Amino acid sequence: MTENKRRKIENEGRIFNREWTSKYLFTVTNSKILCLVCRNVVAVPKEYNLRRHFESNHPNLAELDATERILKADSLLGNLCSERNFFKRPVNVTATRVSYEISTEIAAAGKLLDLLLFVTVEGLLLL
Ligand SMILES: [Zn+2]
Repeated sequence: MTENKRRKIENEGRIFNREWTSKYLFTVTNSKILCLVCRNVVAVPKEYNLRRHFESNHPNLAELDATERILKADSLLGNLCSERNFFKRPVNVTATRVSYEISTEIAAAGKLLDLLLFVTVEGLLLL
């Protein structure tokens, strides 16, 4: 088989269709197509693959009408977002800045373990 005749998925223009979220309860996250119900990943974004997964693994949800599926998709997307936000730690900019300032002062002083630091709200006092 020559290079030109080789079939490549990337060249077939298969991209995730946003309608599939409410139709089959899938979404795209980190460039992966994720089932919102069981969190399985489908490798190839073909409607047939998503429909087959949805109908065989979630037959009770396949019985829902279009409106109920939209509501279910919104609910599952909300759950996914809240789970992600739960595991994200907020970045404490002040603590990072203070840590950087302390490290800079330690490096400038040229002392390590015997250094006595007094950290005040206004800044650093090295003794
Ligand atoms: Zn699933």
